[in-house]
Amino acid sequence: MYKIKEIYYTIQGEGYHTGRPAVFVRFSGCNLWSGREEDRHKAICKFCDTDFWGTDGQRGGKYTKQALSDIIYELWPSDMGQHPFIVCTGGEPGLQLDQNLVDHLHNANISIAIETNGTVELANDIDWICVSPKADSKIIVTYGDELKLVYPQKDNDPEQYAHLDFEHYYLQPLDDDKQAAHITQCVEYCMRYPQWKLSLQTHKFIGID
Ligand code: SF4
Repeated sequence: MYKIKEIYYTIQGEGYHTGRPAVFVRFSGCNLWSGREEDRHKAICKFCDTDFWGTDGQRGGKYTKQALSDIIYELWPSDMGQHPFIVCTGGEPGLQLDQNLVDHLHNANISIAIETNGTVELANDIDWICVSPKADSKIIVTYGDELKLVYPQKDNDPEQYAHLDFEHYYLQPLDDDKQAAHITQCVEYCMRYPQWKLSLQTHKFIGID
C-alpha cells in the first residue's frame, strides 16, 4: 500500500512544465524532516512549507497501485484523447514510488513526473525527473530533466550543481518574508549565469494549489 497525503487535479505552477495540467499525487513522509513542527529544529531541510504528514488530505489514504491508477483516471479528462500526466511530489515521493508502481502506471498509459530532493535512489523509467537539492543533504540523483534550486539557501550555492547531468536548470526564489529581494537575487543570478532560468511559483499568484 502507498501512503498518500492528497491527490488533486490542477495546473503545474513551477519549473519546466509551468501551465501544464497534471494530477498531483502527494506522497506522505520525507527523509529530511518528520513533517511535525516540534521536530523542525532538528530537521535537515528547514524551510519546508508543505504539509505531507499523514494521509488526511484531499483524497488521502492508503492506496494499492490499482486504486491509484483508478483515481488518476477519475480526475483526468481522458475523453479529450490525452493520456494522464501526473506529478509525484511530497514529502519525498522517491521513498515510495517503486518500480512496481512505475511499471503499473506506465501499463495504464500514465506519464510520470517526480519532484524529488534527490537523496534517495529512484525507480527506472520515470518520464520526467526534477531534483530540488536541499542544503545539508547529499544528492545521489545527479541526472535528470530539470534541476530546480530554491535560492538563496545558506550553504547551497548553484555552482555546485551546474556541472551535473540535467537538461534544464532553474532558480526559484525562496518564499519567505524577503521574497521580493530573493526574486531580484534570482533574476540577477540567471542573467549573470544564463545556464540558469527563473522559476516562479505561479500557482501562488493565481491562488490555486
Ligand atoms: S525535502 Fe521537500 S518535502 Fe522534505 S522537508 Fe524539504 S521541502 Fe519538505
